[in-house]
Amino acid sequence: MADAKTAELMEKIVSLCKRRGFIFQSSEIYGGLNGFWDYGPLGAELKRNIKEAWWRSMTQFRDDIVGLEASIIMHPKIWEASGHTSTFSDLMVDCLLTKKRFRADQIEPQSGLVYRFDGAYDGTEINPLLNQYAPEERKNVENWLHSAAVHVWRDIKTGDSDAARKALVPPEEFKQFNGPPIDQLLVLFMKACDKESHEPYSVLLPAGKPPESARKVAAQFYRERGLQSPNLLGEKTEKIENSTRYNPENGSLLTEPRPFNLMLKTYVGPVESEDNKSYLRPETAQAIFVQFKNVLEVSRQKVPFGICQIGKAFRNEINPRNFTFRSREFEQMELEFFIRPDEAIEAIYGSVATPSGPGHPGESQPNWGWQMWHQYWVEERFRFYESIGLPRTSLVEYWQKSDELAHYARATVDILYKFPFSKRDEKGELMGEELEGVAARSDFDLSQHQRYSGKSMTVFDEELKAAWPKLDDSKRSALSQRYFESRQRYLIKTGETEEKAEKQAKEESDALSKGYYVPHVIEPSAGVDRLALALICNAYGEDQAPDEKGKMETRVVMKFHPRIAPLKVAVFPLLKNKPELVKKAKEVRDLLRPHMSVFYDEAGAIGRRYRRQDEAGTPYGVTIDFETLGEKGPELQETVTLRERDSMKQERIKIAELPPRLLQTIR
Ligand code: ATP
Repeated sequence: MADAKTAELMEKIVSLCKRRGFIFQSSEIYGGLNGFWDYGPLGAELKRNIKEAWWRSMTQFRDDIVGLEASIIMHPKIWEASGHTSTFSDLMVDCLLTKKRFRADQIEPQSGLVYRFDGAYDGTEINPLLNQYAPEERKNVENWLHSAAVHVWRDIKTGDSDAARKALVPPEEFKQFNGPPIDQLLVLFMKACDKESHEPYSVLLPAGKPPESARKVAAQFYRERGLQSPNLLGEKTEKIENSTRYNPENGSLLTEPRPFNLMLKTYVGPVESEDNKSYLRPETAQAIFVQFKNVLEVSRQKVPFGICQIGKAFRNEINPRNFTFRSREFEQMELEFFIRPDEAIEAIYGSVATPSGPGHPGESQPNWGWQMWHQYWVEERFRFYESIGLPRTSLVEYWQKSDELAHYARATVDILYKFPFSKRDEKGELMGEELEGVAARSDFDLSQHQRYSGKSMTVFDEELKAAWPKLDDSKRSALSQRYFESRQRYLIKTGETEEKAEKQAKEESDALSKGYYVPHVIEPSAGVDRLALALICNAYGEDQAPDEKGKMETRVVMKFHPRIAPLKVAVFPLLKNKPELVKKAKEVRDLLRPHMSVFYDEAGAIGRRYRRQDEAGTPYGVTIDFETLGEKGPELQETVTLRERDSMKQERIKIAELPPRLLQTIR
């Protein structure tokens, strides 16, 4: 649970996002659509800058990665091959009272006293009479009525009229009670029981809360089931610990967890039939796998190489939350980096290089096995985040435990950012939430598409073919055996019979000796929207700055790294009613425009204009004043004031020097 301070901080961030046009709720004028967001003018620039920085780091700065832009809707068989149709689901639970839906694994365990009820009957007619008794007397009378009614129904059913008659005799003590006649009540009670709910229900109360709150919640539950004025039946209590069966918001019992597939469905073509059913992609990665062969052919790349893609993905998340963190429509930036299987590397180079310790392993080497490549990509991704302003200390490197890994994954590192809404550990430190996963996925994905499409996904490796005959016999058979076993394991895990798996794995290990294999893959998969939110949270700051009259006031400042800041520089003429200042300022704007996003602003006092740009996160402000025009001497002519957002320091600089000076930090 977020504490009050972090909740307050998130509120400030969400409100700034709306006020300054970073992020709006989608369809806001119609009440919004949960899990969908629109990016306003500043947000759109921020997102473009993030994507551009990622794309440039993957493609422009490397020889071994090429890009792809695939369609969102693809052949539905792709999702069978990838496992999404059968397994891309979360367990969900619904609150029995409010119908609110939760992901079962996100319910915080709770302890306390559970109030269980067997059901309720409608007390609309009988309650005015029962209320004439004192509370304790009423309770006794009501219990007796209930047990008498149960007896009568049961005894009449079994034909035991004597027992029924006996059950109808009220206890002696009732004679002392001050209330209406019991037989009159019994008739009304039997009538009320026609409208009875036998649905058991329970409510969890934290220790110390009065029982009345549980009864109130239960009454509401039975009211929703059609009882106008529910009288609860069979109340019992039980202490429980660490239960995830109750709604943390109101204590109500939840439904049993059931799986829910997260893919959004649609129909392709005019007929809404099962045959035409398709899906909006839940990830961009699969398109890369299915186009692997095409890209390989046209790009003149050789394994190891990568294909990257940025694009929309859709997930019908059960519980979108934490602002844009968990959305139903979002963008991903994914790289599939294809590598040789370790057996091929060992055959070619005699051994496989493995990491010698933590940290970046340096420039890639041909004898790297999957572990080196995995570590390399984890470290490359950290470097990327640092290059756009997320300090390493704000990030967490989380190695998934063996029971968290998918069966085909050899290792997955999640890169987490310490969002203000992250959970805290026992020391009170933010634990972080996932920005990106870097997974070593073996040869699972391409193998699956090979099986489902019937098209080969193998590559031919000249070097491997040449190296194989030179190996000594024992090495050859050891490598063949290892490759055979790993392919056999994959085939059996994915449902092949043992016999077929053995035959196919044998064929594949024979193919390896001739230079053919299905490449393995390392997948760094990041979310644009989560990164945008992390950058916004990281940039948000409040400090003290002098106002117009020199009085200190709180300044909200978005300290974006210049590389991803939505606007790079704001240009201000000191006064808007001086045409020479305005003309010069527009000249400066036009000088900078071809190189960066420039915001021109002439409205309001200069201090207020600075403040507006601080909130937008614009790293530089340029003011054109009378000195610029040469009115205070020739030495200051053609110079402007350059103000730096974070330090608020101002310096005079020649106009001609502005582009190279600003480009230094923006690029
Ligand atoms: P989570 O466990 O948080 O649901 P995931 O492990 O299912 O995420 P992946 O399938 O690995 O996520 O997707 C890769 C990246 O896509 C994530 O690291 C995240 O940045 C982004 N992403 C996934 N789901 C969402 C979402 N619902 N909203 C925004 N971004 C998302």
